[in-house]
Amino acid sequence: MKAIIWFTNNLRTLDHPLLHKACKEATTVEAFYCYDPSLFEEDLKGVVKIGPYRKKFLIESLLDLQEQLERLHIPLHIIVGKPEKEIPTLIENIGATDLFYQKNWHDEERQTEKAVRQNLNKQISYHSAYDQFLITPSELPFEVSELPRVFTVFRKQIEKQCSIAAPLPIPKAIDQNIKTKVSKEWETISKEVASIKNDPRTAFPFKGGSQAGLDRINSYFWDTDQVAVYKKTRNGMIGTSYSTKFSPWLANGSVSARTIYQMLKQYEIERTSNESTYWVFFELLWREFFKYVGLKHGNLLFKSGGILKKEFAQGQDTNLFLKWKEGNTSNSFINAHMKELSKTGWMSNRGRQNVASYWSKTLGQDWRRGAAYFESMLLDYDVDSNWGNWMYTSGVGNDPRDRIFDPNRQAKMYDPNGTFQKKWLQESLF
Ligand SMILES: Cc1cc2nc3c(=O)[nH]c(=O)nc-3n(C[C@H](O)[C@H](O)[C@H](O)COP(=O)(O)OP(=O)(O)OC[C@H]3O[C@@H](n4cnc5c(N)ncnc54)[C@H](O)[C@@H]3O)c2cc1C
Repeated sequence: MKAIIWFTNNLRTLDHPLLHKACKEATTVEAFYCYDPSLFEEDLKGVVKIGPYRKKFLIESLLDLQEQLERLHIPLHIIVGKPEKEIPTLIENIGATDLFYQKNWHDEERQTEKAVRQNLNKQISYHSAYDQFLITPSELPFEVSELPRVFTVFRKQIEKQCSIAAPLPIPKAIDQNIKTKVSKEWETISKEVASIKNDPRTAFPFKGGSQAGLDRINSYFWDTDQVAVYKKTRNGMIGTSYSTKFSPWLANGSVSARTIYQMLKQYEIERTSNESTYWVFFELLWREFFKYVGLKHGNLLFKSGGILKKEFAQGQDTNLFLKWKEGNTSNSFINAHMKELSKTGWMSNRGRQNVASYWSKTLGQDWRRGAAYFESMLLDYDVDSNWGNWMYTSGVGNDPRDRIFDPNRQAKMYDPNGTFQKKWLQESLF
């Protein structure tokens, strides 16, 4: 077997079931990632799918993956172009017999997979598996179609009936000597990272890649014991310590949720197990829940009425959108968060809930426009978490209470001295 592994948002070697299988069964293994430049440019509607911060994080993650795979003697070829065109050519050039890739459940990705298969002029074998879950669909205690609408019901069933598999170790190096093909385009793109600078005020000053992700887990757990006070700090908005900051590595798969879970359990055994350590698991279950909401409901995630198929305000005021996006609304708490997002690609969970509720409920605008802006800007953009949380906050998703956030009240509670607002609004005060 001449195996080829197509990396997407599973950019790691630790806990990678498909890599494991390929290393075990194949005589040669090569890997590739398809970097589609159109995702980083404005489309016909002027929207950029992947903005500058996630682009930088992604490139750092790919360079790190290249190093990880080199240690296993596996070349990672990074191809610049459209997958449906580039992948069949690569497979044919290499003479691969087997393609390994992560199973996806959203239309865009599935259409790409389909086009890759259709454009291939030779017969090969396909191997795919789900690679983003703590508990895979076959381990669930119910059918995906029976997923409860309310998170608490889901969480209780998982906690009672499921156990979480241990992560797979990094496979052993294989006996082969194949050089990585480096194209001129990729060389140029990978150097662009240096020109994207971090704002010194950012709450997320970290690099992309598994190594940086594992360093962050070690620091948050073992060096600082921050995890033991997570429940008290998690509503914070300033600095690196108030929450785990694991989401960008989880989103592009450079660290798996099972790896985090295993390290959390280890910490509980060796240091302390309390309400805060449990709460990190609780939050990982939110991520899991939204993945299943996406798997169950597919394209309803992107419809105005959401999974509830509900009538919803669909304001399309472009002037209001620009004000919200640039942090020029009449509310300074909202503005500070939106400035933070546009300058860093990061925003706390508290901030996200407030600005989303403000856009969709207070201003009565089409929530999907806000979600698409988040998609472009967030370092940790994840299709299910983003669109699921937006539906939830906009009243067309899984929130049984359909709350509306009062940003003035929220500012009094979470930024009583205005420190966060001053941090981000300073320049507009002068
Ligand atoms: C409107 C809106 C959009 C969002 N978009 C995204 C997104 O694109 N990608 C994303 O990863 N998260 C998204 N979230 C969820 C949440 O805000 C982030 O996961 C969290 O702020 C990331 O910071 P952290 O890693 O420090 O989280 P922590 O508070 O430390 O939580 C630990 C982990 O639990 C998971 N988690 C926590 N809260 C949630 C949640 N509400 N939903 C899903 N997973 C959660 C994340 O994987 C996170 O890394 C969104 C929330 C809202 C309200």
